[in-house]
Amino acid sequence: MSPGSTGFSPPRDAAVLIVDDAPDSLSALRSLMVDQGYQTFVANTGERALQLARRVHPDLILLDIVMPGMDGFETCRQLKAHPVTQRIPVIFMSARTETDDVVAGFDLGAVDYLRKPLRMPEVCARVRTQLSIRASSETQHEQAERLRAIVNSMAEGLLIIEANGRIQFTNPACDGYLGYAPDELAGRHIDDLLNPLVAQEYLEYFSRYAAHPETAHSHGTREVIIRHKQGKSVCMDLTLTPMFLRQPLFIGLLHDITHHKLSEDALQRAAMVDPLTKIANRRHFDSFLEKEWQRATRTGAPLSLVVLDVDHFKLYNDSLGHVAGDIGLQQVAQAIASHALRGTDLAARYGGEEFVLLFAETDAGAAAALAESVRAHIEALQLPHPKSPTSPWITVSIGVATMRPRQQDKIETLFVGADRAMYAAKEDGRNLVRVMQPGLVAISACAGSP
Ligand code: GH3
Ligand code: MG
Ligand code: MG
Repeated sequence: MSPGSTGFSPPRDAAVLIVDDAPDSLSALRSLMVDQGYQTFVANTGERALQLARRVHPDLILLDIVMPGMDGFETCRQLKAHPVTQRIPVIFMSARTETDDVVAGFDLGAVDYLRKPLRMPEVCARVRTQLSIRASSETQHEQAERLRAIVNSMAEGLLIIEANGRIQFTNPACDGYLGYAPDELAGRHIDDLLNPLVAQEYLEYFSRYAAHPETAHSHGTREVIIRHKQGKSVCMDLTLTPMFLRQPLFIGLLHDITHHKLSEDALQRAAMVDPLTKIANRRHFDSFLEKEWQRATRTGAPLSLVVLDVDHFKLYNDSLGHVAGDIGLQQVAQAIASHALRGTDLAARYGGEEFVLLFAETDAGAAAALAESVRAHIEALQLPHPKSPTSPWITVSIGVATMRPRQQDKIETLFVGADRAMYAAKEDGRNLVRVMQPGLVAISACAGSP
């Protein structure tokens, strides 16, 4: 019989270690194994067998039981106790055929038992079979090791969850993300990680799948807030995929997006803020105004827009330099922003040296009074403006317009009104407040209206 004739095909270069104290038996087996094409090693004591096995990592060991000194049972025990040799299959050989001996051999981890005197064709067949099993179990073992290495080293957190919400397995990345020690999460419930409503939603999905696995579909990727062991919340993308391995299981992949979230928030804030003065920018103001305009249209409340422009600012830059100009703008911006006190007030830098203030639910009189206090505040800062024909200090000219917007009105009308009022303040001598009636509603003009 040649190797491979049974359909099993042990690897060509398989190595076999034969351990027997009887020289005749040893040499007969050796030539048999060499004939089969195996790389063959021999040892005539248990001690020698252990040494050789650790060095050459044979694929199979044929082990005699009765030997002087260390017998086959003890040799096998030591082979199984050593990490390098514990997976090597062992076939016992003995003339002792009592059931107890055979059972003892299998209990020690042997894979087969050959009775002496040996029948050589049977030895060949059993060796070949064990080498084939060994080859496929080594392949499986390698695959499992490879998977384990991937799961342990992957950056994504991995969780295996049972249909009742119990966590069965987590990988080191998952433990790390959520602040748990290895194996600490296994056995816990998803309630420990998710808020009750979200956990409930997942449990419902689990039980739907468990009831009808054939209709299962991936739950997709969701952004979830997970409770860290220390109590803080972490923001994660959770991708959940069902699978059926004797029972329905759910594979969760966790991807930490907390830092993306933070930079997303930072970007969003940056997109709303003027970089020089750190108050709202034009874009933010426009969308804020749009919302307040809609609200005022619904409620019929007055909406007041204040436009402020720094007086002779070109001269300020020319005399003190652009850097001083920037600092001056920052100081003016802070003064203006300090008057936007309510949640529905907003101060913004609208362009160059022009600022705006929005006051919701504020009529023309109140808006004019607020504008006047802003003007006085800036003048009182006494920021030196040596070249200004208007004042020794930085001053602003201010225009105010108020509307109770109706469906057919346009925001532009409010802006045009405030701009015209501001230009009137410039024409009238600067460092003044002027109030414009956009002509749409009757408003009470305050002191200083043209
Ligand atoms: P008026 O009283 O009529 O408003 O005169 P003005 O000089 O303020 O008006 P003008 O529009 O002629 O000039 C505005 C100046 O504001 C010109 C520009 O250099 C300056 N400016 C605009 N943005 C900035 C800025 O970000 N930093 C500095 N330093 N200056 C700016
Ligand atoms: Mg100006
Ligand atoms: Mg200007």
